[in-house]
Amino acid sequence: MSQPQFYTDRQDIGHHINGEVVTPAGSRFSEVFNPATGAAARRVALAESAEVNAAVAAAQAAFPAWADAPPLRRARVMFNFLALLNQHKDELAAIITSEHGKVFTDAQGEVARGIDIVEFACGIPQLLKGDYTEQVSTGIDNWTLRQPLGVVAGVTPFNFPVMVPCWMFPVAIAAGNTFVLKPSPTDPSASLFMAKLLELAGLPKGVFNVVQGDKVAVDALLEHPDVKAVSFVGSTPIANYIYERGAHFGKRVQALGGAKNHMVVMPDADLEKTVDALIGAAYGSAGERCMAISVAVLVGDVADKIIPLLVERSKQLKVTTGLDLNAEMGPIVTRAAQERITGYIDAGVAEGAKLLHDGRGFKSAEHPEGFWLGGTLFDHVTPEMKIYKEEIFGPVLSCVRVADFGQALQLINDHEFGNGVSLFTRDGNIAREFGRRVQVGMVGINVPIPVPMAWHGFGGWKKSLFGDMHAYGEEGVRFYTKQKSIMQRWPESISKGNEFVMPTAK
Ligand code: NAD
Repeated sequence: MSQPQFYTDRQDIGHHINGEVVTPAGSRFSEVFNPATGAAARRVALAESAEVNAAVAAAQAAFPAWADAPPLRRARVMFNFLALLNQHKDELAAIITSEHGKVFTDAQGEVARGIDIVEFACGIPQLLKGDYTEQVSTGIDNWTLRQPLGVVAGVTPFNFPVMVPCWMFPVAIAAGNTFVLKPSPTDPSASLFMAKLLELAGLPKGVFNVVQGDKVAVDALLEHPDVKAVSFVGSTPIANYIYERGAHFGKRVQALGGAKNHMVVMPDADLEKTVDALIGAAYGSAGERCMAISVAVLVGDVADKIIPLLVERSKQLKVTTGLDLNAEMGPIVTRAAQERITGYIDAGVAEGAKLLHDGRGFKSAEHPEGFWLGGTLFDHVTPEMKIYKEEIFGPVLSCVRVADFGQALQLINDHEFGNGVSLFTRDGNIAREFGRRVQVGMVGINVPIPVPMAWHGFGGWKKSLFGDMHAYGEEGVRFYTKQKSIMQRWPESISKGNEFVMPTAK
């Protein structure tokens, strides 16, 4: 098996269509930066509808044979892909760090969570098993089976350039669909690396394609009649748009949006463990995770005890280039994101929140041109403030003080987002009530970032998900397949004469 080509040293990043990497002459390009240094590292081509049409045509042509391949044969390709991912996981992690900025160990974790889904997809023969009822009427059996949809598309965000695509394509492809991925133009290289690994794994040409690009490519996918379903992960306004537009064109859509995740700290929580969890969940990946904790809800007298510890820890945060193995937090992904987050910190100060640690002052001596911010900590944030209501998507932790558990629960249930939530307590009954009553899709009890395992499926509630089904897990299999019911009897059991009445059990 030949080694996959390393794409990170290429100046121009193209599309992967029908097994070929192409960069059409006259393409528009967007710069891809190394956030740690602030340098433009390479360029990514932005697809027009012609490239999207070519990718969909390749996927459409590959579909009949791929859908017809026995699930076990498709699973074996996934097993090969799994082995290659494991072999090349650190190269993938290094690609992530070089374009996203997150620390290398965190990028390794991202790749590992993507690999989990590939392992899940290897079980596709079992997952596609239908159900069967013998003798629904005399001599008649009825069963259901699930068949692939055709060409399906995935549109993914910058913050997990490996894991989020892996929420989609392994399950979709293993189920017999063909796939067009439209990754984020901010960190596009990992998509081509995975395309190469899939090819080396034995995936037929055209089953997995990548079109790089922006809104032009996304709109072309949404409008294309041969695209049967779209999976989207990104911000809420775009998720809403994708859901409406996709539905307008008759597609199945799952569109996962933004978040504002709370962590409730009860007075009986183990303070040391809670501080560790909060600091990691708020500042890990520079807060650029859809499951990052951005609000700490401090119940009763716990606030006065925990705030000094949080201040101390946020000041000690080791912010440096992601390739430094001691780094706890890397740079912000882009200059624009750094400016947006800085604007939110300014707004928090203007609205009267108490700024306990200010990340705006952070400077990198080594790379002064990088997109740097330190961890920021606010106390006395209130629900009316912009920094409470809106998703900041950066290393900013807002502490809100409430009197009791009931107020904490109400606060969370009133928020427009409902992606993830966490509760730290030693009280089993409070934990149980919280799990039952909270209006959020993914709940952690003494677990700060409760990203569900591959076989459980991922999805938020309220404005954090538009659509009916969560990503991956059995809901993912259902999303990428349609159910067919077959009712059958054989000639010797056919009764004589015409049947004009509704068949009933006889
Ligand atoms: P984004 O919404 O800007 O972009 C996501 C994708 O949509 C990208 O591929 C982008 O090219 C495309 N896109 C952007 N603008 C578009 C437009 N006008 N029309 C059509 N397509 C468009 O999101 P991002 O900044 O890349 O990622 C961060 C966001 O993603 C955050 O809001 C975060 O909460 C969210 N996110 C959510 C989850 C989840 O599971 N709910 C997971 C990861 C990230």
